[in-house]
Amino acid sequence: MTNDPYAAQRNDMVDRQIAAMGIEDGRVLAAMRAVPRHAFVPDRFKIAAYADTPLPIGEGQTISQPYIVAHMIEALQLQGAEHVLEIGTGSGYAAAVLAQMAADVVTVERLAALAAPARALLACLEYHNVQVALGDGTLGWPEAAPYDAIVVSAGGPSIPPALRQQLKPGGRLVMPVGPDSHGQILVRVTHGVDGQDHEEQLSLVSFVPLIGAQGWHP
Ligand code: SAH
Repeated sequence: MTNDPYAAQRNDMVDRQIAAMGIEDGRVLAAMRAVPRHAFVPDRFKIAAYADTPLPIGEGQTISQPYIVAHMIEALQLQGAEHVLEIGTGSGYAAAVLAQMAADVVTVERLAALAAPARALLACLEYHNVQVALGDGTLGWPEAAPYDAIVVSAGGPSIPPALRQQLKPGGRLVMPVGPDSHGQILVRVTHGVDGQDHEEQLSLVSFVPLIGAQGWHP
């Protein structure tokens, strides 16, 4: 995007806030240089679109801090051919980053007031390999399962069994897990080819709540 007035800010964000903070996967860095984050934030916050901070997107929800988006997506270890599920579309920004790096993305949002504009924006930006679905993502999206990678962009009390069941052998799931809504541990589950799940704790994070049948109750 040569005419993008935000391109310099975006490259600066990737250099200073993503690469300098330890994200090494060149595919993640390239995707974040490409996706116009300013298009995913409300007008009054565009001035802060490339600051390393979450921003309000309406409905009490936020677009995640860029570093955290990079960290979670790096943890998925995408090579380019994957079929990916995201829970918590929000603005659609993380889905766009995923779409740059994988074969296709299904992203599920429980609030129609966020799903509809995210779907329209992703189509307008020509992310034709993203499907925005409306529903309770704690149940996954069985119609398009199984997935090579699943990322949950909201924090829940435990990993929903439905999501584990929708992972392919060898697949990775990354999700913030914690007992309350103030902070969580980012957990990666790798679904072994032998059927056993291997779990790692990656870092401390703070996400909005995952609300649904296998998350927090409304
Ligand atoms: N990835 C988003 C940020 C997500 S904020 C972005 O890049 O902008 C978390 C989102 O998860 C919110 O939009 C919230 O409504 C949604 N959410 C919470 N519980 C959910 C559930 N059970 N299923 C689907 N979406 C859910």
